[in-house]
Amino acid sequence: MKKKKEERKRPSNFIRNIIIQDIKSNKYGGKVITRFPPEPNGYLHIGHAKSIVMNFGFAIEFNGRCHLRFDDTNPTKEEQEYVDAIMEDVRWLGYDWGEHLYYASDYFDQFYEYAEQLIKMGKAFVCDLSPEEIKEYRGTLTEPGKESPYRNRSVEENLDLFRRMRAGEFKDGERTLRAKIDMAAGNLNMRDPVIYRIMHVPHHRTGDKWCIYPMYDFAHCLSDSIEHITHSLCSLEFEDHRPLYDWFLDTLQVEWHPQQIEFARLNLTYTILSKRKLIKLVETGVVDGWDDPRMPTISGMRRRGFPPAAIRDFCERIGVAKKESVVDVALLEHCIRDELNRTAPRRMAVLDPLKVVIENYPEGQEEELDAINNPEDPSYGTRKVPFSREIFIERTDFMEEPPKKFYRLAPGREVRLRYAYFITCKEVVKDKDTGEIVELRCTYDPATKGGNAPDGRKVRGTIHWVSAPHAFKAEVRLYDRLFDHPYPDRAKEEGKTFLDHLNSNSLEIKKDCLMEPSLKDAEPGKVYQFERIGYFCADSRNSRPGSPVFNRTITLRDTWAKIEKRFKEQEKQKKNRKK
Ligand code: ATP
Ligand code: MG
Repeated sequence: MKKKKEERKRPSNFIRNIIIQDIKSNKYGGKVITRFPPEPNGYLHIGHAKSIVMNFGFAIEFNGRCHLRFDDTNPTKEEQEYVDAIMEDVRWLGYDWGEHLYYASDYFDQFYEYAEQLIKMGKAFVCDLSPEEIKEYRGTLTEPGKESPYRNRSVEENLDLFRRMRAGEFKDGERTLRAKIDMAAGNLNMRDPVIYRIMHVPHHRTGDKWCIYPMYDFAHCLSDSIEHITHSLCSLEFEDHRPLYDWFLDTLQVEWHPQQIEFARLNLTYTILSKRKLIKLVETGVVDGWDDPRMPTISGMRRRGFPPAAIRDFCERIGVAKKESVVDVALLEHCIRDELNRTAPRRMAVLDPLKVVIENYPEGQEEELDAINNPEDPSYGTRKVPFSREIFIERTDFMEEPPKKFYRLAPGREVRLRYAYFITCKEVVKDKDTGEIVELRCTYDPATKGGNAPDGRKVRGTIHWVSAPHAFKAEVRLYDRLFDHPYPDRAKEEGKTFLDHLNSNSLEIKKDCLMEPSLKDAEPGKVYQFERIGYFCADSRNSRPGSPVFNRTITLRDTWAKIEKRFKEQEKQKKNRKK
């Protein structure tokens, strides 16, 4: 039976509640327009996926729309490469912004007009303090700031200086345009924040047109307003910026005033989610680029074989909260397994081959056996797997002196070869010099074809195998978590950096794995379950036609399921105790 994905009740969500209220009260004419506003200064990671799933998800749920807007106001760090990668990643996650692709840089002229408007209203001034002096004058959380000596320039002088800033008459850092708000405000963001700075840096879209660039707080609220965004969802660290967001829009009396709503960003155990730190991993060569399968980037996860549906499922399950927390990476892994269990075709591959000769199987004979492609879903059908006198099994599936609970192959013991026959181990052949086991001599029972004995006798172990003359060799990369510490981000508290917590075993390359022939044409990006081993994805970069390289997507062991089971048991016990 095909296991249908259970309809999961969505976790309660305070943002959805706000939206539902707003639709009821006809705020914004009942419309829902959200946006995902990445800065093109790096690749997207799983934290961004949370924001994408939320923003596009609400748009879909409430028949609205979601804009993709590049927040490209800092040309020193931004590049076209990132713009392209971000679009690819959002699409791959399954979302479509339609015609609503925007760039903050498209609004530079409008931002400039708004800035002049503030100057004319006496609400902004050109300041000659250096960046260090501005910081000094700013005060602290306990002390009010000091007003800039340039704060009371006339409108005419401010306009003249601002126009000359734009014309390129001044050097970087020589002057800024600042909002005139309140240097004694309790919220530091309101202490005459800088809204324009001079940067003689070409922009990846506007070229040399500008040498002054707006600050995030100014550009963001205005972009939202220009696009008629209704709900501007951003992460918690912008909560203290909300008064400024509203100040700009109120002061400028814009016709469209979106509301900013903050939510807790995603943190994951064993994972770093900061573009700044991820860039460091890329630049120092710790990983093989942004799409290294160990990276928490969308492109890394794609190369690793994580299905987009599983990532969306994960983002739905973690929900949206107003309080910071750290999600167990085991939950993400659980979602990946859950999806792949239903969708990944099964194949046989041997990572550490040990040769087995079946002595009573006629030499030169071969046959094709039927193997099930996915026990979870009969629509995947069956395939033929070749069988012959010489096969390979996993080295770890044989033990000369097996401990108690080892049910696989051992001297004198009978096991089932998956989809094939029962075999019994008769002899162990060792290398004379090293003592290493090089071959097993076995016999098979022809009556057990397909894996069942007509006399009803049982075997405890079932192992996978490949036929020696038919199998082909392939490289397999065993990926594991990049960090060996659950909170690599907290390294600072221990006087270390996140780089001190790198897992030295996060990649093991195996060159001589043996695969059943049907894997030869594995399509890059496609994920298979190698029976009894895990999920593996044909690498999209290193595979060649007829010669795939496989990345381990994930092992079969589901630690989250165990955690959940334990939790349920505890709950049950609690209930019983109450009774
Ligand atoms: P980083 O801290 O990794 O550099 P960022 O916030 O600077 O991320 P942006 O490109 O500005 O990156 O982010 C685009 C959107 O994604 C923002 O709305 C931001 O709030 C959201 N976002 C970024 N990181 C996370 C996260 N970990 N969880 C949820 N949302 C996130
Ligand atoms: Mg940012």
